[in-house]
Amino acid sequence: MTKYDIAVIGSGIGGLSSAAIMAKQGFKVVVIEKQKIPGGYLQSFTRFKKNFDTGLHYIGSMGQGQFMDKIFNYLGINDRVDFAEFDNDAFDIIYFNNKTFELPIGLENFKKALINYFPSEESAIIKYIDLINEIVDSLHVFNLRVVPDEYDFHNQWASESAYKVICGLTSNVELQNILSSANILYAGTKECTSFYTHAIIQYTNIQGCKRPIDGGNNLVNAFIDIIKENGGKVICGNGLKSFNIIDNNIESINLDDDQRVIADNYISTIHPQQLVKNIGTPYFRKAYINRINSIKNTMSSFVIYCTLKPGTIKYSNQNHFCFTGNDVWVASNYRTDKAPDYFYLLTPAHTINDKFSEKLEIVTLMDYSVFDEFIENGIVIDRKGYNKLKQEKADELLSIAAKYFPDHISAIDKINIATPHTFQRYSDTVKGSSYGMVKDYKKAESVYFNPRTRIPNLFLAGSNINTHGIVGSAITSVLTCGKIVGLNKLINEINNG
Ligand SMILES: Cc1cc2nc3c(=O)[nH]c(=O)nc-3n(C[C@H](O)[C@H](O)[C@H](O)COP(=O)(O)OP(=O)(O)OC[C@H]3O[C@@H](n4cnc5c(N)ncnc54)[C@H](O)[C@@H]3O)c2cc1C
Repeated sequence: MTKYDIAVIGSGIGGLSSAAIMAKQGFKVVVIEKQKIPGGYLQSFTRFKKNFDTGLHYIGSMGQGQFMDKIFNYLGINDRVDFAEFDNDAFDIIYFNNKTFELPIGLENFKKALINYFPSEESAIIKYIDLINEIVDSLHVFNLRVVPDEYDFHNQWASESAYKVICGLTSNVELQNILSSANILYAGTKECTSFYTHAIIQYTNIQGCKRPIDGGNNLVNAFIDIIKENGGKVICGNGLKSFNIIDNNIESINLDDDQRVIADNYISTIHPQQLVKNIGTPYFRKAYINRINSIKNTMSSFVIYCTLKPGTIKYSNQNHFCFTGNDVWVASNYRTDKAPDYFYLLTPAHTINDKFSEKLEIVTLMDYSVFDEFIENGIVIDRKGYNKLKQEKADELLSIAAKYFPDHISAIDKINIATPHTFQRYSDTVKGSSYGMVKDYKKAESVYFNPRTRIPNLFLAGSNINTHGIVGSAITSVLTCGKIVGLNKLINEINNG
């Protein structure tokens, strides 16, 4: 039986980036993925002969020399995947209070644009930009700076409320909302989201975002090629079933088909609540298990994937975030019995015809419980009822979107709908959560995890451990792999390409 140096569990961005780093570092790596298709939320799927993305619309810090660009250079991703630029002058457009706010790429440009919209708020805007700059500058791993030997994550802003900090900067409610409008990228709430979470996601997107052309699968395939070219293996459709633990060390793992996989070290990137179901006491302390299980998960999503009639809608390299009410913290105001307060509309980047869009995606947040009555133990038990409600929810969202984008909606040819249940089914996330565990500022000591565990050869990575999203997962992968190979060695090598 092959013995591996590292077994990585889960093949989302957390798993693939950890595996690719370790493979590049000369370790014999195997990736274990439960689903038949690798990629987790990075995966794309085909409907109506077109490719659609699951959980990847844009990636932050992709400008030359920025964090993700350096990671992708180091791994060789940039040589294999084409990324599309966004409109520098208006990558995000916010529709709020019957006005539009065009937000440019680059912190300085972003600041100038906001001052232009809110001239009397110049000092608040400068303070805000200085603050997110200061927070992000303090993150050694994100800045790929050599760090103290036993570096562990701690940031004072993880204990501060995003909502309160923003309200403390300005009493202008409209500006508060515009500064907070990206909260939907982490399903933020006034009650829980930390300013640290807000700052890093806001900063990385403004700093320089891009998206892969023709979908996330190109990224997934590039990662897999790199892992294989460096001697690694990716096993799909055969998940982790149980651990064999001897003397408090994982000796091997059993997969769904009872195949045994042996490795020296294991990196789990699956949801920690799923992990502690597999490893209970005495290997993990009861307090650790309770701590993990007590953390809430962010809300799920509801997405309409559309094909467009050919030659009808011009391709747009912009994201359109529309808020129908007077408060952008839509997850805080969410109710299952009312129409969505928000949707996000985009035309994904593709190579076939650059001038016109062939696809459209309309995204909103949705709680898993909306479809509860049709689902039991993760399986749809009333298909007719489920499909009927799915269509009703889609019609409701389409009619809201039509008020803002009538041409787009009338250009739709076919639609495919993803509910919170779809996200759970294809990505194995807890209740289809879009961004993993809530980073509650009131529980900062509990919601961030050391990549090391009590089991010396088990490490944690993925979006739940430190920061949400693709960039957050990649930061954690560097931190986690650094625990095995030496963080400063890894950082130096990433910096040297
Ligand atoms: C609609 C939507 C849009 C999004 N847009 C963006 C965006 O534009 N930019 C951004 O940065 N982020 C975005 N996100 C969030 C981002 O996709 C996620 O934060 C990130 O991809 C999560 O990566 P991960 O590796 O932690 O987890 P996942 O991608 O969930 O991967 C975990 C993997 O583990 C596997 N697994 C589970 N159990 C087992 C087991 N027992 N054995 C083996 N494998 C197992 C799963 O099948 C899955 O493949 C979006 C999310 C959604 C839902």
